[in-house]
Amino acid sequence: MVGKLKVFNSLTRKKEDFLPLNPPYVGMYVCGPTVYSNVHLGNVRTFLSFDVISRYLRFCGYKVRYVRNITDVGHLLDSGEDKISKKAKLENLEPMEIVQMYANDFHEVMATFNAMPPDIEPSAIGHLMEQLVMIKDLLKNGFAYESNGSVYFDVEAYNKKHPYGILSGRKIEDLISDTRDLDGQEDKRSPLDFALWKKAAPEHIMRWETEWSDGFPGWHLECSVMSTKYLGEEFDIHGGGMDLKFPHHECEIAQNAGTHGKQGAKYWLHTNMLTVNGQKMSKSLGNSFLPCELISGDHELLDRGYSPMTIRFFMMQSHYASTLDFSNDALEASRKGYIRLANGMRVLKEMEWVEDDGQTDQDQVDQILRLCDDCYHAMNDDFNTALTIGHLFNLVKKINSLHTGHLKFGEIGNEVFDKMKQTFIGFTEDVLGLKIESDVNYEHLLQTILEEYKTAKFNRDFDKVDKLRAELKSEGIVVKDMKDKVEWAFEE
Ligand code: AMP
Ligand code: ZN
Repeated sequence: MVGKLKVFNSLTRKKEDFLPLNPPYVGMYVCGPTVYSNVHLGNVRTFLSFDVISRYLRFCGYKVRYVRNITDVGHLLDSGEDKISKKAKLENLEPMEIVQMYANDFHEVMATFNAMPPDIEPSAIGHLMEQLVMIKDLLKNGFAYESNGSVYFDVEAYNKKHPYGILSGRKIEDLISDTRDLDGQEDKRSPLDFALWKKAAPEHIMRWETEWSDGFPGWHLECSVMSTKYLGEEFDIHGGGMDLKFPHHECEIAQNAGTHGKQGAKYWLHTNMLTVNGQKMSKSLGNSFLPCELISGDHELLDRGYSPMTIRFFMMQSHYASTLDFSNDALEASRKGYIRLANGMRVLKEMEWVEDDGQTDQDQVDQILRLCDDCYHAMNDDFNTALTIGHLFNLVKKINSLHTGHLKFGEIGNEVFDKMKQTFIGFTEDVLGLKIESDVNYEHLLQTILEEYKTAKFNRDFDKVDKLRAELKSEGIVVKDMKDKVEWAFEE
């Protein structure tokens, strides 16, 4: 890796901080989806941002343990209903059928966009026992209280020992004066308190019996429990969308510190929102796109469909902490940008260094080496994918010059060529995750070849007939000469 890895640390808010990663191990936890509906493109943006971060860390030689949970209980709607429970009732299905259906959809979408799966994907229900242990610890430590069958985190008691609001920069006094409402939870002592365990209303269908009540765990608890279990009391990176910073991550920190004294992650990374006409894309606002709609173009706001790699490129060409506004123009620009990188990659993969009459050109050598280093510097600077793409574009110019012969191989030498090839392909494919995709219609191409075959046969050009036959065979296709037509089949 070139230089030090610098990550914006939203906990201490010091941009000059350096991530004290100890090779070869990095622990990273990302809040996963609540699986009660199809993931929309906003969700995809967040998960692809963390995909690139884990890819880059691996590319630099770190061993990464990437944990991304599945929320299958406890995430409530504003109405107080569990999201999964409500959907299960609506669809007349078991809650676990809802969970499975949307978890499958999520995995499929992530694979479509070439995201690597996490190393561990734990679910909240699968870690109920561990959640009960944490609740008991918090009660024992005096940071929680039981009230009418529910258990709440006592924010004021916690704030006397640890600062609450450290991540979002909020002060407890301001929070209290802003929130008088107990949001219908009259058994809470203070509106800031949040549920660790919630007594279930009679109509609530996801429930477990405990010493406090027949109920279910609070949403914030699962992430504290699962991050601690798989990454330890202190680990490197915790991520999620900006909207999770408060209260979700703030509550996680409080639960962690209230249980074992440590805050959990050293670095909290928050992705900014994908917006539509400046407004956050969200299911509840009704402005969200499904990935399949963007791919097919089947949506009233779309001029056309875009390929998964174009969409991935679109997500990569802005920094994860900046907002990204969705528009047809931006997608069209991304289509061209992606094709530029893909063409560079296709050419470079086929290209080998050959000795020619070029003489070393130090200026060219320096430019290429600087561009290669700049790719690392850009990613080291808080994973700046936007800048990285700019450097890759400049490398494409060099690749094209070599391809057309304007730049001679001899001018840059074998070693620099190899470094350029390794850096360009590494950053495009391994780090940004942009693989070559083609929308070539192979069926159509095959028909064109068969037409050529028929013409050669008609002209009694048997050398050509044999050659075409052999070439198709090497691709697993056999040509069948019928009485008055030619057909093909896969070779058995
Ligand atoms: P959810 O399933 O709603 O909990 O969301 C899963 C992840 O997607 C969370 O990290 C959210 O912060 C993130 N997210 C939700 N909406 C957007 C959006 N419009 N842009 C980027 N990330 C989002
Ligand atoms: Zn979480």
